[in-house]
This record gives sequence, C-alpha cells and structure tokens, in this order.
Amino acid sequence: MPGSCPVPSVRVPFAQRPQPPPVSSSFPDPFEPDAALEDFLQRATRLLSGWLGSNRTAAPLPRLSVLPEVEPAPEGLDTERLLGDLQLVMEGAFNPNHPGSLAHLDPPPLAASIVADLICAGLNNNLLAEELAPSLSHLERRLCAWMARRLGLPDSGGGVAASGGSLSNLMALVVARDRRGPLPPGEGVVICSEDAHVSLDKAIHVMGLPSGSLQRIPVDSGGRMRTDLLAGRLEGLERQGVPVIAVVATAGTTVRGAVDPLPPIAALCRRHGHWLHVDGAIGAVFALVGGHSHRVEGLGLADSVTVNPQKLLGITKTSSLLLLAEPSLLLRSFATGLPYMESSWGGGQGGEAGLQGTRPAEILKLWLGLRQLGLEGIESLLGGAIERRRRLEALLSPVPELLIHGGSLHLLAFRPRGADAAAAERWSHTVRRQLLDHRLLLSRPRYQGHHHLKAVLGNPHTRDGHLQRLATIVRDSLTAC
Ligand SMILES: *Cc1c(COP(=O)(O)O)cnc(C)c1O
Repeated sequence: MPGSCPVPSVRVPFAQRPQPPPVSSSFPDPFEPDAALEDFLQRATRLLSGWLGSNRTAAPLPRLSVLPEVEPAPEGLDTERLLGDLQLVMEGAFNPNHPGSLAHLDPPPLAASIVADLICAGLNNNLLAEELAPSLSHLERRLCAWMARRLGLPDSGGGVAASGGSLSNLMALVVARDRRGPLPPGEGVVICSEDAHVSLDKAIHVMGLPSGSLQRIPVDSGGRMRTDLLAGRLEGLERQGVPVIAVVATAGTTVRGAVDPLPPIAALCRRHGHWLHVDGAIGAVFALVGGHSHRVEGLGLADSVTVNPQKLLGITKTSSLLLLAEPSLLLRSFATGLPYMESSWGGGQGGEAGLQGTRPAEILKLWLGLRQLGLEGIESLLGGAIERRRRLEALLSPVPELLIHGGSLHLLAFRPRGADAAAAERWSHTVRRQLLDHRLLLSRPRYQGHHHLKAVLGNPHTRDGHLQRLATIVRDSLTAC
C-alpha cells in the first residue's frame, strides 16, 4: 500500500559528511606563523589582562565558583567554547593581583614572568637534558651561578632550579647526607628551629628517617633560633656519637619572617664540621641587593641555600632554586648517567643535577622577571615590602590588647593578648571574615598554640589606605570584645 512504505533512512554518502578538522590543526602550523594560534593567544591574553585588572570591585577571594564541565566531550571544542570555559575557571580563582591580597607569600605575578611562562609553554623544552633544552640549560646554569655569587656563596657556587622550596630543601638534605658518607639506614639527625618550615618534616620522612630525627631548637622572643641551645645540642650529640646530617637555619620564618642568627650558627657548624643549609625560601632574595643584604647577614656562609623567587619577587609559580657552594655535589647525589640521552656537550644535563626528571624551563620566567625589574626594581620592591610592614606595625603596636609577632622582614602576625586558644581561634575567624568584607585577605596560622592573623606585606599594589583600614578593623575588634 502506498502510504505504508517504510521511509528509507537518509544516508549521506561518506564523502559528503562534515568531517571534523584533522587533529593536527589543534597544533600550531609547523610551516607558517599560525593565524589561528595568534588569534587564540590574543583573545586569551585579553581575558587574562581583564581578570588581572578586575579588582576595583572584586574581592581577592571569589564568593561563588561555578566550574565548567570537566570531561572532554566526544568532539573537540572550538576556541570560543574553550575561552568561555577558561573564563569560568578564572572567575573562581584567587586573585593575587588584588591590593588587599595580604594573606600568603603569593604576590602579584610580574608581567615579564607571565610572558616568559607563556613562551616557556610554547617552547616546551625539557630541562632534563641538554639536547632537549640547549639554550635554556645554559641559561639555568649561568643564572644559578650568578644568584649564588650574589647571595655571597663562593665564586664556584651554583645550583639547580626546582619546582618549589619543599623540593629544594629535600635535595639539600639528601646532598648533605651523601656528602657525609654512608650512614646506617634511619640514622642521622637534622637540626632546625621550632619555627622552621614543615617541608623539613616531609624531607625527613622521604629520606626514611624517623620523625624524631628532626630536632627542633627553641626560638628567642624574636622567633630566632637560640644559638646557645644549638651549641649545647651539638655538643651533646657529639658526645653521644649521633651523626648530624645538617643544621638548617631559616632566613625568614613562615609565620613572622624571623631570620635565625646566621653568622654564629655558621661558626658552630664549621667548628663541628656540619653542613649548614639555609632555608631562605622567604628571606634569601633580600641578599640580592646591597641595601637589604644586611637583613640576612651571613647567608653566604651556608653550604646550601633555598631561595624562592616566587614568594616575594612576583616570579610566577613555581620558582625555587637550590644553590650550593659546591654545586658538583648535586651530581654526586643525583646523576644516573641518563642512559636514554645524548651526552652533554659540555655544560651538563639538568636531570643529573636534581631529583626531578622532565621539568619545564622555569628559569626563563625568573631570568626575564629579574631583567624586567633590574637591581633597582628589586631594591624598591623589597624596600616597599619592608616599609609596609613597618607602617602596619606602627599602626598596630599602640593597641595594648594586641600581641604582635614580627621579625626583620615583611611579615607580621598578631592576636589578642591574653586570649586562650579557643578565644584566639574565634577572634581570628571573625576578624578574617570582617576583613574579607572590606576586601582584605589575611591568613590565620596557628603559632605557639594560638591562632593568629598574619599579614604578608609583599604586594606592591597595597596602599596606605588599605593598611589603615586593616588596622581600624583589628583595633575595633578588640575594643568590641
Ligand atoms: C614556603 C616555604 C617553603 C616551601 O616552599 P614551597 O615552594 O611552598 O614548596 C620552605 N621554607 C619556608 C621557610 C617557606 O616559607
């Protein structure tokens, strides 16, 4: 019957079906400057600079965050959709470029560092081996050597970049242990101050040492390691025949920015023949310029130094270096011969000088960032941070109800005097929320058994008005309770 004929399904001949673009078009053209890539980059950078510049009305922390879909769809997305998704993620991101962003050691990103990070991604070189990163391997070695000299290490000094200070500290302790010669498994202690960074606990764990192997020396009222107690401890350990892997001094503690007395600690290490590692993740950058190097006096007496340019100079994350007086010791600990690689044609392979294998050329954003700042720019960035810490301290110190913990750098922690642990926790929680309502972000570290509020004054966008507002809110919170 005519009406009941089955409708034949419409079959589009294969050749006429819309074909997805070949997957190679998702990669930049190898023969021509890629117009689609340029357009993508331009639109993405517009989004980024828009986000970085959106802080007039926004807070450093977003209130709500909506995430785009996470899984890849069967068909790849076009740039429009990709940029839309990126925008959603950006709207939920913490904004370190906000003038009220004072919580952590996460300053605004330096412009040249952002650009270098982008170029680094495009170059996609691999610091594992010289043939995968010819110019960049040299750049890393030379910049590490320059930094080492600048921090006061011997002319032979140098080092390696690492993805973060935790890794730099771990590598330093491994090198120190290897230099000492073989130790029975689980033996050896590391000495640091009570206020030293938690990454040392991790390092001890990874090195297969019991947690008691990290021996913490009490600090004085300024948060600095008590060298009299260190001297006693070292003598005691020597008497008992306990091997010391290293003494770790901190140049810039994480809560209050205290600098351990480096010259006397170095003298003790020398007397006992111990390795001195300085964890300068926060403070070592102050040694880069003459006007501030006195704040970390004696840094150059170390056998190894961790420096994190990501924490104050605005080099985009991650940026950390482990610098040594004798950088060849890195090879002794980490070289494997790299059996899958051409041998180095002179300079050495990045993967032989540290724990990481494949790694990006993080040195590029450090190098370009330092070049953009210049020594004068570094000096004024550091000077501004110190100035703001002094100013905030001057605003807060007349408040008798406030107990302030500072150091010699750009950090300040405080809590109500006489409050017990529970009251300090409540206070810090409430005041942090009030500060956020005024678009000021502080952190809430636990220190000496109490919650504190902590301000890190490394943000060059912060103005006096922000500090005054901060001080007023803190002052009012104390008279109200
Ligand atoms: C931040 C910090 C570290 C660890 O650095 P990451 O880059 O976070 O791994 C180590 N030591 C001190 C003193 C720090 O403040």
